[in-house]
Amino acid sequence: MSQECCKCSHCDGSGIRLVIDNTHDITYQEECYCVLQHRREQEKLAKRIASVFLEKTSKEKLAISLASVIVAKHTDEYSKFQLGTLVESKNDAWLLNWLH
Ligand SMILES: [Zn+2]
Ligand SMILES: [Zn+2]
Repeated sequence: MSQECCKCSHCDGSGIRLVIDNTHDITYQEECYCVLQHRREQEKLAKRIASVFLEKTSKEKLAISLASVIVAKHTDEYSKFQLGTLVESKNDAWLLNWLH
């Protein structure tokens, strides 16, 4: 994790904490406790935002917003070609995957 996640005292915002294993006399890195917490907070916030959209925003507007994010993220020729293929086959599930 590159960006600082919080003022956590265990990981100092790195999201990774150092674990000291006294039994085997080694140290290793592990995802910090706070990371799961952040993920839960994000999901909660996402659901709250989604409920506003559901109540207020038209399907058309949501669709064009998502589509804009997808095309902005994938500007190389190969990706554009693949996206075109998915559009041809109307594969909405796969198209949604391209958001990430
Ligand atoms: Zn954190
Ligand atoms: Zn932490």
